[in-house]
Amino acid sequence: MAFDPSSLRHLFPILSLQANDHPLIYLDNAATTQKPLLVLDAIQHYYRNNNANVHRGAHFLSNRATNHFEQARETIARFINAPEQSHVIWSKGTTEAINIVAFGLEHLLEKGDEILITSLEHHANLVPWQQLAFRTGARLRVLPLTSNGEWEDEFSQYFSHRTRIFAATQVSNAIGVSTPLQMMLNYAKQQGAFTLVDGAQAVAHYSVDVQALDCDFYVFSGHKMYGPTGIGALYGKNHALEVLIPYQTGGEMVRKVSYQATEFNILPYRLEAGTPNIEGAIGLAAACDFLCNQDRSALLKWEQSLASHVYSRLHRETNIEIYSPEKNTTLVSLSVPNIHILDLNAYLDSQGIGVRAGSHCAQPLMAQLGVVGTLRASFACYNTMEEADRFCNVLLEAIDLLLDDE
Ligand code: PMP
Repeated sequence: MAFDPSSLRHLFPILSLQANDHPLIYLDNAATTQKPLLVLDAIQHYYRNNNANVHRGAHFLSNRATNHFEQARETIARFINAPEQSHVIWSKGTTEAINIVAFGLEHLLEKGDEILITSLEHHANLVPWQQLAFRTGARLRVLPLTSNGEWEDEFSQYFSHRTRIFAATQVSNAIGVSTPLQMMLNYAKQQGAFTLVDGAQAVAHYSVDVQALDCDFYVFSGHKMYGPTGIGALYGKNHALEVLIPYQTGGEMVRKVSYQATEFNILPYRLEAGTPNIEGAIGLAAACDFLCNQDRSALLKWEQSLASHVYSRLHRETNIEIYSPEKNTTLVSLSVPNIHILDLNAYLDSQGIGVRAGSHCAQPLMAQLGVVGTLRASFACYNTMEEADRFCNVLLEAIDLLLDDE
């Protein structure tokens, strides 16, 4: 039986809002998802019952807070199949996690070394590497992938003994395509490069197994998988985390401090300076529980069926250009020649429909596609077929109106 999103819409109170006098249709899930009651309640429960600083005080509440916080780490470790909870480092999100790695590996890079990324990266998985290259004299190289997620040139020529770091997204946030990740990782590993996977757009939709992927680092944000903002995780293999020089220093990450020297703490604390985002970690663990209590392959199939329904309705329209794939994606990314995407966005908004118009923090990819930006409708498990249809109807209405204006 097909998945029925109404079975869980009631868990997301925000979805019953009106927006601009219309029922809200939230199709900006690739930017951030809405949060289920389970997550909201977990955060409130923490503040009502367990709030104290972690790892420090030896008192009743502090012990409770520490237990919940460390249990949350275990939940995340299980969620991505990390072998041990100490391999999970808390971060503010994907961006901070990538910066932790980029700064942490700096001491291993020399002039002439190469950092390889793909042409489908979000700025978060580009700018930190570019800046690292500037600082070290390393060379940033870009593996060209087509918008179908296929490679253009002889793939292997981009991987060499000089490739020290390979960083790639699992799924493009801008055009929704999955990259040939396992194959790229294999090439990178053959060259002995450190490998990092940006899982920001993957974790909400796919079951992630970091041991099967066999990457050195895997990073993601809680807010894109029904969890709170301001929390995410950096998974790393033990040896990979051990070589990172801490990006931030201060309290919590130390064992012994004198004016002359500091002995750092063991993993995972060594990479977590300062008071952490305790309620964020607990909220993110609740989001993992929410997802794990669902039939995840049914959710994925549903989200993909929404995207392919929209694709099939719109791709026949001669004046719509679609950049996302027909299948195996959970979003639709498009533009309409002669109409500004912000005008389409404004019309959709006036009808209560929230989408995203812009470069999606992927300006080099937009340049490759020959556009300044696209209009992106991205689906989550609570979206309905009626919402997908209304998006198509209102978009077509907007196009008619705006072309008439010409
Ligand atoms: N990578 C990808 C693929 C993303 O979609 C995003 C968020 N749009 C990021 C990185 C950055 O995530 P955050 O802003 O949560 O750090």
